[in-house]
Amino acid sequence: MMNRNGMVTKIRTRIRTDPFKNNYDLVGRELGRGKFAVVKKCVEKTTGKEHAAKFLRKRRKGQDCRGDILNEIAVLESAEANPYVVGLHEVYETTSEIILVLECAAGGEIFNQCVADNDEAFTEKDVIRLARQILMGVSCLHQNNIVHLDLKPQNILLTSAQPLGDIRIVDFGLSRRVDSVSEVREILGTPEYVAPEILDYEPISTATDMWSIGVLTYVMLTGESPFLGEEKQETFLNISQVNVDYSQDVFQGISDLAVNFIQSLLIKNPRKRSTVEQCLNHSWLRLDSLHQTVDTCLEEQEASQSESEPESPVPSPELLI
Ligand code: ADP
Ligand code: MG
Repeated sequence: MMNRNGMVTKIRTRIRTDPFKNNYDLVGRELGRGKFAVVKKCVEKTTGKEHAAKFLRKRRKGQDCRGDILNEIAVLESAEANPYVVGLHEVYETTSEIILVLECAAGGEIFNQCVADNDEAFTEKDVIRLARQILMGVSCLHQNNIVHLDLKPQNILLTSAQPLGDIRIVDFGLSRRVDSVSEVREILGTPEYVAPEILDYEPISTATDMWSIGVLTYVMLTGESPFLGEEKQETFLNISQVNVDYSQDVFQGISDLAVNFIQSLLIKNPRKRSTVEQCLNHSWLRLDSLHQTVDTCLEEQEASQSESEPESPVPSPELLI
């Protein structure tokens, strides 16, 4: 069942009304929080298994948001078979809250490594593997006509941080179903990651997520947010003008193929942007399957650069991935 703005509200999961605390112990500190939710680690008493409990307030700014939460649950249910979407275990409801008991992604947000210092930051090889997983997860969603609409480093988690595990996509609070009959135009995600069509109040499509994946990949590789300005207005202007810095300063030691991949996504016209399937077939993500490592690719790139510009300084080896 779906209403006009793409929200799905029919769910399969039985909502439990017995107290959550009868069945779970809260352990450790908070795992994270967003605008309307707090997420805490918990242990199921009968199994001893760890989970993440997302506590969602039903009333926000004086409005009943139960429908939004049911939509989030419905999307999680529809992605049950998707290995890169966080698993939903149980749902509880109290008078003021709904609690989603989720698979625990113990490695935390990829955000932490995106902004980390060099020795903890992702290498290009890491990013290739993680980007592939993000794309495979998003491909499953798009095949089911679901758009996430809030893809950003805070909503991409890791099963473990060290050693670097696999990704889990979380936070389907803004997700919508898109199809030919309904035109979704509302929703505003996080300023830095929203696509130009959202700012222009144009229809949302699967291409809207692809823009965010472009921004996400840029941040994972460079540690910098491509559109972030001093103020929101400046950020929005940078987005609508697609004002992106692809210079060597920012992309030092990163392959040309990676830059080309990002450029195929940060395109203003949603119809001209790469689709998720095109991304999965991009040479950057196929480097391994071509039995060519990123290192050799970078070496070749540098060799050709130093041939053409003998004066240009060659980055020192420790700067290379
Ligand atoms: P919001 O809709 O409020 O942004 P999220 O679902 O994004 O809520 O959760 C907020 C934060 O809690 C996430 O950014 C992440 O740090 C943490 N978190 C959410 N789900 C999990 C999970 N399954 N395992 C571990 N941490 C989680
Ligand atoms: Mg979030």
